[in-house]
Amino acid sequence: MQPIDSPYLVPTDGSFELSSVPTAPPSGDEDTWKKQLEKRRKRIAKLQRKLYADDRFSLLLVFQAMDAAGKDSTIRNVFSGVNPAGFQVYSFKQPSSEELDHDFLWRSARSLPERGRIGVFNRSYYEEVLVVRVHPEYLAGQKLPYTEDREALWAQRYASIRDHERHLADNGTVVVKFWLNVSQREQRQRFIDRIDEADKNWKFSAGDVAESKLWSEYMEAYQTALRETSRDTAPWYAIPADSKPFMRATVADIVLRTLEAMPLRWPEPSRKDRDAMKRLRGELVAAQAKTAPKKKGASKPSGEKAAPKKTPAQKTSSKRRGKR
Ligand code: ATP
Ligand code: MG
Repeated sequence: MQPIDSPYLVPTDGSFELSSVPTAPPSGDEDTWKKQLEKRRKRIAKLQRKLYADDRFSLLLVFQAMDAAGKDSTIRNVFSGVNPAGFQVYSFKQPSSEELDHDFLWRSARSLPERGRIGVFNRSYYEEVLVVRVHPEYLAGQKLPYTEDREALWAQRYASIRDHERHLADNGTVVVKFWLNVSQREQRQRFIDRIDEADKNWKFSAGDVAESKLWSEYMEAYQTALRETSRDTAPWYAIPADSKPFMRATVADIVLRTLEAMPLRWPEPSRKDRDAMKRLRGELVAAQAKTAPKKKGASKPSGEKAAPKKTPAQKTSSKRRGKR
């Protein structure tokens, strides 16, 4: 699938320049963005039903950002309408000792969305070329055999990620990645708000302030990672994140248009299934008639009324495997 066209699409030819992407929204007003989000959220929820019924594709959405950029609230706001049964979010923190006993893609590979589902990675294997690149001392805990040639190590990681994402795309997982691009100034203001507002205190972390001091190192790591891994098979979008309403509406737009571009179809029952349904319907109606409570002057049992028109998906839903 070709990437959805957007001013925020990161070039897929390795030419990304971080200095060229805005953190501020374009001119516009918050109310409009909020209304757009509302509409898009509803349409995403509808298309999710088709993705689920079709059961051939899955959608993997990767979110990466500096602290306080708004990953959690974007995920919450964009997907609040979807059916939780077909939706999953994984938040990746510092790896556990079990996870460190495996290659760096292992833990996320186990958490990939099943066919028919939307999966969100709140942070991801990209941390391995972001926070670990800014803090190469973390490599010592990873029990890796080959770490002498650092440049070769990073190059291998980008190649592994590209290959992995291409493999997913080839097998029906549509991969779309969002970098929520907040400015350091806006981030600082959000930290201050977390200190000043009692109901936000719980979100404040001194560690986040320490990481913020490494801003230019992180930006360099983001620039390289996005250059190396934004490809047609798994594009990155650099979303201006200084305005939350704009950011959420824009993420929703790209998710919605991605779902619209996927060749989703409602499953059609085969001729054999259709014949079986016809026969079984006859049996069910007859059984209903036998057990119908007898009332004087009652009209026909409801089962004998003309069957309401159904979508192909509803027609097959009774034989679907136990996902529901
Ligand atoms: P929030 O602060 O909104 O709850 P968060 O994603 O920042 O969400 P935290 O628990 O604060 O969650 O931080 C998780 C930390 O784990 C981040 O600093 C991230 O860089 C780090 N992390 C994630 N994956 C790895 C990894 N593979 N190696 C090292 N650190 C990682
Ligand atoms: Mg945090």
